[in-house]
Amino acid sequence: MTARRENYRYQECGLPYVTLKGIGVSRCSNCGNYEISIPRIEELHRLIAKALIEKTTRFTGAEIRFLRKSLGLSATDFALRMGVTVETVSRWEHGAAPIGPQADRLLRLLVAQGRLTTQYPEQQLDRINTKTAKETRLGVTLEDEEWAVVAA
Ligand SMILES: [Zn+2]
Repeated sequence: MTARRENYRYQECGLPYVTLKGIGVSRCSNCGNYEISIPRIEELHRLIAKALIEKTTRFTGAEIRFLRKSLGLSATDFALRMGVTVETVSRWEHGAAPIGPQADRLLRLLVAQGRLTTQYPEQQLDRINTKTAKETRLGVTLEDEEWAVVAA
């Protein structure tokens, strides 16, 4: 095995055009097998996700799948958050149907706000009454130097 730094097309991530620049690759000169060492992979995937949401055209199916996975969501949980059926998610991811403009925005926001949204009880999305609007009564207070919700 010979180790060198290479520019590596990272197709394992599911996206065809991600190149890891100057990454350590060990190649066997006899059989051509290789091993690649990718450090801090979660951070890398977060970075790719943040870069994807900067794009100014609609997401491809592969990008939608990558973003969903980077959010740590199954197709079912993703469909619930996006307000579509799991079949629609499948059509998006296979490029059989384009993601709509609202869903596109929502996906960008979910990725942008990443950690914040993991605290959100997504079952609530199914219980939203979109026919009426009512003022929210909310109390907030500083507890141990962090804002917390208390009774209004
Ligand atoms: Zn070999």
